[in-house]
Amino acid sequence: MHSTASDGTDAPEALPRLARDAGLGAIALTDHDTTAGLARCAQAAEAIGIGFLPGIELSVDPATLFAGAGSAAPRIGTLHLLGYGVRPDEPGLAAVEARLRDARDQRNPRILDRLRELGVRIDLDEVVAEAGGQIVGRPHIAQVLLRKGYVKSIHEAFIKYIGEGAPAHVRKDRLSAAEAIDTLHDAGALAVLAHPVQMRLESEVLDQAVARLRRLGLDGIETRHSDHTPADVRAFEKLAERFGLLTTGGSDYHGERKPIALGSVTVPIDAFEQLRAAGAAGPVTDQT
Ligand code: AMP
Ligand code: ZN
Repeated sequence: MHSTASDGTDAPEALPRLARDAGLGAIALTDHDTTAGLARCAQAAEAIGIGFLPGIELSVDPATLFAGAGSAAPRIGTLHLLGYGVRPDEPGLAAVEARLRDARDQRNPRILDRLRELGVRIDLDEVVAEAGGQIVGRPHIAQVLLRKGYVKSIHEAFIKYIGEGAPAHVRKDRLSAAEAIDTLHDAGALAVLAHPVQMRLESEVLDQAVARLRRLGLDGIETRHSDHTPADVRAFEKLAERFGLLTTGGSDYHGERKPIALGSVTVPIDAFEQLRAAGAAGPVTDQT
């Protein structure tokens, strides 16, 4: 789940109670590119007696996965890696978080400049206020566009203005797949491929992508996710089995920003215990 530390709308310390009320026995907080909410969420989870896994979700430049393949490289959609069992105070991870924050901070004003050229006037101050946390990203820009009536939905904001291929889209510096996996491992976390369906790959190419990630040290696949159909789940479970990877899952709850109910996608509590046990033993597939 995500909190106000990135693009969720619930405070980190509010999530454990909401999760318990939804009938969950354990949760993981995996904010985009930040561990800023983990301590507060962990404390609240402990206070009410719900299991907690500290996590993070790193955005990866998909082009780095097939670097060297030249024109044969497939076009990959979104590539996110979840880190489960992360130690938030690890200096290497802190440096990566700072780099990603800088990348957004440099990009966001450029997006607003492009929007202005398109006759859309929103201020950085409004976007920062909308974010209310460390991570100021496109979802917050989209929210301001919605509030000021420039679009009728968050989705429209991405299609019409700030999504890939749209006129106010601006590229930002992202991690390579190897950097992301190494950073997670060095911070004591297991590296898990998030919502593979969002990579938008045919099954054969997805196999190749997972094989490449596996060679870089991938530990698991998020098989259950609010974007996955039952057929997706079965296909990803097979993939995990074939590559000897752990399986994880969750709703990817973002509060009010996305129409996904907390607890709408669950995994057996064993998955939580397995992740914790595997995390304590260190990365399971590090092949370096
Ligand atoms: P940023 O990392 O600041 O560029 O923002 C990326 C985030 O924007 C993603 O993690 C998604 O949550 C959100 N996002 C990207 N594309 C879309 C879309 N088409 N519709 C809604 N949200 C999107
Ligand atoms: Zn994601």
